[in-house]
Amino acid sequence: MLSLQNQRQPKTTPLVDDYEISDTVLGLGINGKVVQCTHRRTKQNFALKVLLDNEKARREVDLHWRASGCKHIVNIIDVYENTYSGRKCLLVVMECMEGGELFQRIQEKADSSFTEREAAHIMREICEAIYYLHSRDIAHRDLKPENLLYTTKEPNAILKLTDFGFAKETFTNDTLQTPCYTPYYVAPEVLGPQKYDKSCDIWSLGVVMYIIMCGFPPFYSINGLSISPGMKKRIRSGQYDFPDPEWTNVSQAAKDLIKGMLNVDPSKRLRIEDVLRNKWIAQYDAVPQTPLCTGRMLKEGEETWPEVQEEMTRSLATMRVDYDQMQIKALDKSNNPLLTKRRKKIEEIYAEHKK
Ligand code: ADP
Repeated sequence: MLSLQNQRQPKTTPLVDDYEISDTVLGLGINGKVVQCTHRRTKQNFALKVLLDNEKARREVDLHWRASGCKHIVNIIDVYENTYSGRKCLLVVMECMEGGELFQRIQEKADSSFTEREAAHIMREICEAIYYLHSRDIAHRDLKPENLLYTTKEPNAILKLTDFGFAKETFTNDTLQTPCYTPYYVAPEVLGPQKYDKSCDIWSLGVVMYIIMCGFPPFYSINGLSISPGMKKRIRSGQYDFPDPEWTNVSQAAKDLIKGMLNVDPSKRLRIEDVLRNKWIAQYDAVPQTPLCTGRMLKEGEETWPEVQEEMTRSLATMRVDYDQMQIKALDKSNNPLLTKRRKKIEEIYAEHKK
């Protein structure tokens, strides 16, 4: 459900009146290309993402738009609703992220120039994006390396999160939206299920932090078989470790934080508020400047990086399905008198029909 007061409307005038579309492809996604475009008057460059207009695309744009006020989320500049060869499209003009992906940048750093303090600074930036979303009841659900981009190639560039293709409003529970049932007195077990979606982002934060610290992922498949049954089991049971020598000099504080984020039980996993309060994040300037091996490990593992990305994509997909099911079950089990009443009524109607 879109909240009406925040809902912005796409422009219906042709995008090409205001922007010139270039041939430069900035990136390829599952839903098509992201290309560069230039504002005709200001000559400023932007990124253009074209989506076929449907309910899913509308949700992506709406949630991304609502998140656009955050310093660490790629800003939406304009949205157009135009028709191309008879097909209605949504054209999303975003700020152009010229600095490339996070891990590309870490890999380019000279050996041992990347420290634990810098890692903490990066984590702080990502956490701020997630905090912004979670405090507005939005779960991103697709936090992974390729969705973390830098504004420029400069050393002072800002890291931002993008791609709201799987984002979800965490207050979509029907019962809570009927006017006679305001959330003020709702039972915690009914509100409970929403936390699984947010905890998906925390798991991703844990995986991303692990890779930032050492240059390889906590869970990986054996024999290059992506998301093998074994790997699924390892993820579900939280089997990972901090192997030597890459982790030898890393602080215990960093390891403990990762453990809190990778807790297998989503209800026990840290929440974003906890993460932001954690000393390693809150006081990132005081984190030791221990050199990390991330740059070197990323370089050595360059060939397998696409597999690492695929694995994370698949694990996230599995997790989204798992958590959706857990939410349905939790809601089913909840002892909410109104829900029980409603269910009874439905059963009665069915029984009536069968007669
Ligand atoms: P999809 O949802 O189809 O996966 P994304 O939004 O993730 O699409 O975009 C695909 C790729 O395009 C990204 O991985 C990135 O390389 C590039 N890209 C996306 N947005 C921008 C942007 N604002 N500036 C520069 N490049 C971008």
